[in-house]
Amino acid sequence: MSANSDTQAAQPHASRNLVVVSNRLPVVLTCDAQGGWHACAGSGGLVTALLPVLRNRGGTWIGWPGTDAGDPAVERAAQQAGAEAGYRMATVALNAAEVRDFYLGFSNRVIWPLFHDLQSLCDFDPVYWRTYREVNRRYAQTVARHAGAGDFVWVHDYQLMHVAAELRSLLPDTRVAFFLHVPFPPLDVFVKLPWRMPLLHALLQYDLVGFQTQRDRRNFSECVRALVPQAVLTGRGPVTEVRVAERRVRIGSFPISIDYNWFVRRAASTEVAQRVHELHGLLPDRRLMLGVDRLDYTKGIPHRLKAFRNALARFPELRERLSLIQVVVPSREDIGAYQALKLEIEQLVSEINGEYSKPGGWVPVWYVYGSLVAVDLLAYYRAAHIALVTPLKDGMNLVAKEYCACSIEEDCVLILSEFAGAATQLQRGALLVNPYDIEGVADALRRAWAMPPEECAARMRAMRRSIRRQDVYWWLDAFLDAAFAHELRGIPHVPVDGAQPESDYLPF
Ligand code: UDP
Repeated sequence: MSANSDTQAAQPHASRNLVVVSNRLPVVLTCDAQGGWHACAGSGGLVTALLPVLRNRGGTWIGWPGTDAGDPAVERAAQQAGAEAGYRMATVALNAAEVRDFYLGFSNRVIWPLFHDLQSLCDFDPVYWRTYREVNRRYAQTVARHAGAGDFVWVHDYQLMHVAAELRSLLPDTRVAFFLHVPFPPLDVFVKLPWRMPLLHALLQYDLVGFQTQRDRRNFSECVRALVPQAVLTGRGPVTEVRVAERRVRIGSFPISIDYNWFVRRAASTEVAQRVHELHGLLPDRRLMLGVDRLDYTKGIPHRLKAFRNALARFPELRERLSLIQVVVPSREDIGAYQALKLEIEQLVSEINGEYSKPGGWVPVWYVYGSLVAVDLLAYYRAAHIALVTPLKDGMNLVAKEYCACSIEEDCVLILSEFAGAATQLQRGALLVNPYDIEGVADALRRAWAMPPEECAARMRAMRRSIRRQDVYWWLDAFLDAAFAHELRGIPHVPVDGAQPESDYLPF
């Protein structure tokens, strides 16, 4: 990656202070019995990728620590965790009403369902919108306290689309970029948003707006074309430009990825191998199929369970020979739609198990509701012959990439939704399915179960090669290069290893 001193001289972003802004801070906070707060620096692909940049260039991460109000002990614990990790952390305090209206409200009851094409689940409460803007202003004010004119501010995700609009009056000359981790919807869905114009104009206040796929970027461009007639869109290739009066906004697609080598190394460890062995001992004489998802209606978990039930009904040879391990990680349980989803999943699991289990023997669905520690997650990835990754819509889906990275024997199959961002990159190796098509997914499952080993290996090898080439460090460099491309006077913009994002063959 570019975070070493050899490449700093050639890269203008190398000399800038980086200010990362995300809804949540990358720390895990715990409160001890005496009421003292402790924070340890978080893990995950984004933190891992950004950490060397923050350390080498000096940097600050700004976000909400996840607790109700501005407890100074929380601020101190976050600062301490940042200092230990090698960068600064600054908190944005939110009170209970703000958490309700900004986070659970506008972010997760308006933008989340709308941007996943599920507008019937939106609650367009005007209070949510007002609070969203107020809270985004607070993030901008915190940024202004920690950033200067020469710094580079990188804002992440759908909770913070309004930060640049609020920041322009506070820091007019600071470069501000944005990356949207979730999909951007097509025009006919986006126009349902009562605040579509201010939101679109707010996004056009960034200097660079990054999307996961070309489809998302295309959707955004179409919204700009239709709703902002004075905008001029120019350029071809991975990064294009929108001009609105004096403003120039670069837009591009940068598929986020994982720290591929970390997953390969950890999956090959003795600890993980031991867990895989135990798992096969517990569930002998059958193939394992895996689903790992946050509790979320976009993940298509009920559709997937129905597809498995359909497969068991239509293909008796799968009975007693295939078990689904479905891990559901708790999420947003304060929202009614999520509680209803949990009940629906549990109902379906018990129906399938009630219909097909063999007393004292085979159980078709192993249901795990909770968070896994890394060694268990990696063991599930390695042990599963099939991964069922079938979201109704997903920005990228890192589980799909992590599964491939951990499949070090290359003897297994990924079944992947056409509507996951990852499908663009993995379409040649995965069995692509429409998650709404219950029989189609059941057919894919049967095909994966019986797939010859040479075909499994060829498909898996192609996917792993692609993920290795375009890992999270590639993503980081591609985004930073795009943010500073016009400063590389005379040097053409070429992503790190010369690889371009895979082109979108999918028609959607
Ligand atoms: N994951 C986790 N705990 C678990 C299971 C999974 O932290 O118990 C991680 C998983 O490794 C992956 C992330 O959660 O990195 C899920 O990312 P994805 O893009 O698939 O979906 P998202 O939850 O962001 O919508």
